[in-house]
Amino acid sequence: MFYNSTRNSGIKVSSSQAIAQGISKEGGLFVPESLPQITLEDIKLLSEKSYVERAKFVLEKFLTDFSQEELNYCVENAYTAEKFKTDHIAELAHLYNGTYMLELWHGPTCAFKDMALQLLPYLLTVSAKKTAQGKEMVILVATSGDTGKAALEGFKDVEGTQILVFYPEDGVSAMQKRQMTTQEGSNVSVCAIKGNFDDAQNGVKAIFTSEEIANKLESNNRMFSSANSINWGRLVPQIVYYVSSYCELVKAGEVECGSPINVVVPTGNFGNILAAYYAKNMGIPMNKLICASNANKVLTDFINTGTYDRNREFKTTISPSMDILISSNLERLLYELSGNNDKLISEWFSGLSKDGKYTVSDDVKQKLEKDFYAGYCDDNQTKQTIKTIFDKYSYTCDTHTAVAVKVYEDYKQNTGDDTKTLIASTASPYKFTDSVLEALCDELKTENEFEQAVQLAEISKLKIPQELLALKNKEIRFNKSIEVSEMTEAVMDMLHLK
Ligand SMILES: *Cc1c(COP(=O)(O)O)cnc(C)c1O
Repeated sequence: MFYNSTRNSGIKVSSSQAIAQGISKEGGLFVPESLPQITLEDIKLLSEKSYVERAKFVLEKFLTDFSQEELNYCVENAYTAEKFKTDHIAELAHLYNGTYMLELWHGPTCAFKDMALQLLPYLLTVSAKKTAQGKEMVILVATSGDTGKAALEGFKDVEGTQILVFYPEDGVSAMQKRQMTTQEGSNVSVCAIKGNFDDAQNGVKAIFTSEEIANKLESNNRMFSSANSINWGRLVPQIVYYVSSYCELVKAGEVECGSPINVVVPTGNFGNILAAYYAKNMGIPMNKLICASNANKVLTDFINTGTYDRNREFKTTISPSMDILISSNLERLLYELSGNNDKLISEWFSGLSKDGKYTVSDDVKQKLEKDFYAGYCDDNQTKQTIKTIFDKYSYTCDTHTAVAVKVYEDYKQNTGDDTKTLIASTASPYKFTDSVLEALCDELKTENEFEQAVQLAEISKLKIPQELLALKNKEIRFNKSIEVSEMTEAVMDMLHLK
């Protein structure tokens, strides 16, 4: 299996090259040249297997230049019951008849990013050994909150790597900030920026693609890579949980093998829902992919009109991990839907960086509408949904998951479609305690995030994750805040490259 760049399909690299490099030189993203297929027979066999076995089955189809030993090493170390507090790795909960919550947040940082970022450091160090022998990997991360912590936790003290995370100073929850500023490890660094997530992502992309900086690194025997979902190594582990959850539903007798399900995903950078799309196209029976956005509804508008337009106010919401106006992974989907048309993709995405918008062809728009439904909800509706779900089903969900539930309710109302449905639940409610508490009881008794967690535990009867409780006694290590224009300097500082 080889990988092409979305902006130059003549570029052809192995999976380890794609993972080590992160992004293609001309700015395109790496995509598999074809999608391997999973049959209903495979699903039946896999339904009797563990998450780790299912992960190996999916990954070996994509990472064909990894040996069996290498894959076993990566997967078995990443997905342990100890780290995820469950043998299932991802839990499946019944919300109500025919509607299931795929709880992807039982990992060490309490958000779904762990599903990929516990594995990525293994994939990346194995890839670096194959393609960049002896080089130190420098991981730059732009985060809207959850990726940063999950990447730090995955890469901390991993030999041959250094990691630097940029997050928007006013764009993350108190618990998210606490998670990052107290991060332990000798190879980690964290820095707040005075800007939003898009500023952080653009800054990181610019540093990545700067030849001057790359040369400096090269002469120091180092190279950049990415832990953002532009890296193929982030996406491929996400396909696994869609395959695995379908197998679980079959195993539990909830779904007959071959019957399609709908999948609802609270979406920001379009990585998670793209993984569902890939799973569907590999043969997992799926009907609609429902893309749920918050008030930054650039994707809702795009899917409904065919015009992507980021020229709008950036809104800070109570689902901050979805506060994004540039959804990077959409590029991979459009490449696929346009029949691998690298010229069109280059045209559209240079339009995006020049004018902040582009319009896709009718043909692509039709294909988009066939697979996807899109909707959004605002902060008030998000809170109302948290309250309703709790009152009706005694289920406490976080603010991002609530956006998905609300958009799904709207979808059912609008279409009458009663296909069984899987809703991706992307974070523990304890990462966003203030908003969840405001939804469940009218007033906040305290500003302190740990006291809020105790209050939420009393109401929800859900255990506070040990990892979050432990932050209370950890020392703050990183409290620097810089202008966006100072990002390059911050990277140079961290690498002692002045
Ligand atoms: C990252 C994140 C999302 C958005 O996922 P994308 O893959 O960027 O679309 C949704 N919810 C939570 C809690 C997240 O951390």
